Amino acid sequence: MTAELETTVRGPQAYAFAHHVIDEMEKAGVWPTRLNFELWLHYLDDRESPLACEIDRLLAASDIISDEVSERLAAEFLPRGRLSEQIRDAGAVLDRELASVAHAIAKAHKTQADYGDTLADASNTIEAADAASPLKALVGGLSTATKRARRETAVLEKRLETSNKEIARLREHLEEVRREAMTDALTSLANRKAFDERLEQSCASGDAPLILAIIDIDHFKRFNDTWGHQTGDQVLRYVSTVLSRFSGGNRFAARFGGEEFAILFPGESAGTVLAALETIREEVASRALRRRSTNDDLGKVTLSAGFADYRPGEGPAALLERADAALYASKRGGRNRVTRAPALENAA
Ligand code: GH3
Ligand code: MG
Ligand code: MG
Repeated sequence: MTAELETTVRGPQAYAFAHHVIDEMEKAGVWPTRLNFELWLHYLDDRESPLACEIDRLLAASDIISDEVSERLAAEFLPRGRLSEQIRDAGAVLDRELASVAHAIAKAHKTQADYGDTLADASNTIEAADAASPLKALVGGLSTATKRARRETAVLEKRLETSNKEIARLREHLEEVRREAMTDALTSLANRKAFDERLEQSCASGDAPLILAIIDIDHFKRFNDTWGHQTGDQVLRYVSTVLSRFSGGNRFAARFGGEEFAILFPGESAGTVLAALETIREEVASRALRRRSTNDDLGKVTLSAGFADYRPGEGPAALLERADAALYASKRGGRNRVTRAPALENAA
């Protein structure tokens, strides 16, 4: 745009000139497009310019000023024509890009919507007892996927089942190991460890009266020395069976160590405990032992026992000590007897 034209379109004559441009465009029979307006601005501003000469020539020849002709005139004569074209092109490219992105977004939305519809349709179809045939393929596809998922779930379930079985087996094995760890191998009675645990628990609960008895085979060393260790083992087993026989219910019998045994009597009076211990002692003492293999007469074995009543607040060690003291009183007293520990030791 020339400096003169710049002044005209921003000066007092601007609208009058603009109206004139529009009138002339109408007379020439061109559409009032932005590009034509710019061309006619320059055409009327300088009627001697090369652009004006060309337009005059075209109008004289009654040529139609089409969009293509206008584009050619702008490109050829307007100083900023080429730039405008580039800007328009850039805009068009931008528009196309935006349109393309918008289309892609719309397509994505549609795909999502279609997917949603498909799911909804499939859901409806599955719910319908007699599926229409066109939907059967869809349902078929979904059911295939469902079957696959189910198969995978079934595999997992199978694995879980196997794991559960293995866990159950291990738990059983662990329980067996635990039982073994608590059992004396020779006599099958509870061992010292199991006994210590039970005594600890019984003392800790402290809710019922508790009596602890310790039983020891008399002169067992001599027996072993005379008849051999293996025969001694058989005697230990025999004594154990007698103890077991009289230790049902809440009673708890254990091999305390060597040829010593212990029985816990929870909730029993000293009288019943004494009676039970006397029965055991008599039972063992009354039996003449015979070695099966050689039919040798082994004589009799006797037992000495001591028992103590649990005192509230007392620890397992103190109770054991008093029961042991009672046992040794039986030994000192001549063996083959039962002694009760003094009920109120150190009583004022
Ligand atoms: P007391 O009447 O004073 O108890 O005399 P004792 O000989 O029974 O006592 P001592 O403690 O002197 O000997 C215990 C014996 O018990 C010694 C040991 O050979 C025997 N003994 C300990 N454990 C076993 C065992 O598992 N098998 C066998 N055969 N003998 C055992
Ligand atoms: Mg002994
Ligand atoms: Mg002993």
